[in-house]
Amino acid sequence: MMKSSKEFRIAKKYIPGGVNSPVRSFKAVNSSPFFVKKSKGPHIFDIDDKRYIDYVNSWGSIILGHCDSRIINTLSKSIDLGLTYGAPCQNEVLLAKKICKIFPSIEKIRMVSSGTEATMSAIRLARGYTKKDKIIKFDGCYHGHGDSFLIRAGSGLSTFGKPDSLGVTKSIAKDTFSLPYNDINKVHQTIRKNKNKIACIIIEPIAGNMNFVRSEKNFLKSLRELCTKNKILLIFDEVMTGFRVALGGAQSIYRVKPDITTLGKVIGGGLPVGAFGGRIDIMNNLAPMGGVYQAGTLSGNPLTMAAGLKTLDIISKKGFFERLHKQTEYFMNQLNKSAVNHLLDFHTDFEGGMFGLFFHNSKKITNYKEIKKLNSKIFVDFFRFMLKKGIFFAPSPFEAGFISSAHTKKHFDFTKEMFEKFLSSRR
Ligand code: PLP
Repeated sequence: MMKSSKEFRIAKKYIPGGVNSPVRSFKAVNSSPFFVKKSKGPHIFDIDDKRYIDYVNSWGSIILGHCDSRIINTLSKSIDLGLTYGAPCQNEVLLAKKICKIFPSIEKIRMVSSGTEATMSAIRLARGYTKKDKIIKFDGCYHGHGDSFLIRAGSGLSTFGKPDSLGVTKSIAKDTFSLPYNDINKVHQTIRKNKNKIACIIIEPIAGNMNFVRSEKNFLKSLRELCTKNKILLIFDEVMTGFRVALGGAQSIYRVKPDITTLGKVIGGGLPVGAFGGRIDIMNNLAPMGGVYQAGTLSGNPLTMAAGLKTLDIISKKGFFERLHKQTEYFMNQLNKSAVNHLLDFHTDFEGGMFGLFFHNSKKITNYKEIKKLNSKIFVDFFRFMLKKGIFFAPSPFEAGFISSAHTKKHFDFTKEMFEKFLSSRR
């Protein structure tokens, strides 16, 4: 970490906190970050030439492994045709068509450049369509850094949310309710108390920003019923879970159809991307057709579209997700076995190529409050030990982990071996 430490010192002089996104600072694990030189397959290499098995995969964006030759070839060809046009290109249409085919709930879709842009635009659209102002979100879900989402629960049910970041105004906070995940009664009560005022409910159907927490099956079904009954739009934020937990996202697992879905990460094949799509009568309210304004200089960027299309072509081949799911299952089983051997309170959960590790014995974690109670000290020790051994897990106990199709048994077995060493070191 010699060169990385030096680089971090310089970075801090010119970039706030030395990083362009806070979690990269390793602050949550009382450490300082490595700086990346290159990445290939399941590995990422730092500027000190240390190699890590990567279980972050650019926060879920990389699903085929870093620098997959098929994506690189596609990009090399695309690059010769131009970097950005500011005018429509065919790949935008092909990608839109492909996503609409895979997600039955999406009849039309618009591309943007980040997940944050997607969720911000989705709630504006929901407000414009329903002509209502307020939104419901859930504690522990992350929907990017739009003002309306940086809100935490207020005290008691009748109060509105409170800003969770400086710079978010009280007047914005009063339009967002943040409720406990998986608590349908609270949703009922909030809707009842705010009749005809709620435009949409936005949720990560499997939450990957408070480790890995599933919504309970009946919860999503009840949300769907409540939304339909009260003319509220249901938004599934599948920026993380879309094309990651299953080809058709979490909605294909739960078989619940949202009105709007937000996407990102995997659909850009590793390049900056976001998208939001849904029912045709809702999407037709966007400019230039309707009165809800939304735009972007680099939206539908030709390189992103080419990489995204190629990625979706590969991952929609028969058997891809079954294999990915089995790989993650093997990996989780290996870690669970080590924990049992060392009598550690530990469990795992996973779906497709996304997983969560819990240093806790309870299999039933259903919301943010419970996650926050977990012992983060052991996670910090685990993270630091594994990093030293060349294994990169997300540098926070509140983040999910990801594998790619380039990860094999060899990488999982090595990770298990190092996990055993970590557990032995604690005796
Ligand atoms: N929504 C979810 C569920 C996410 O996990 C993220 C980012 O991790 C976002 C939205 C924001 O996406 P971006 O970081 O591309 O703005």
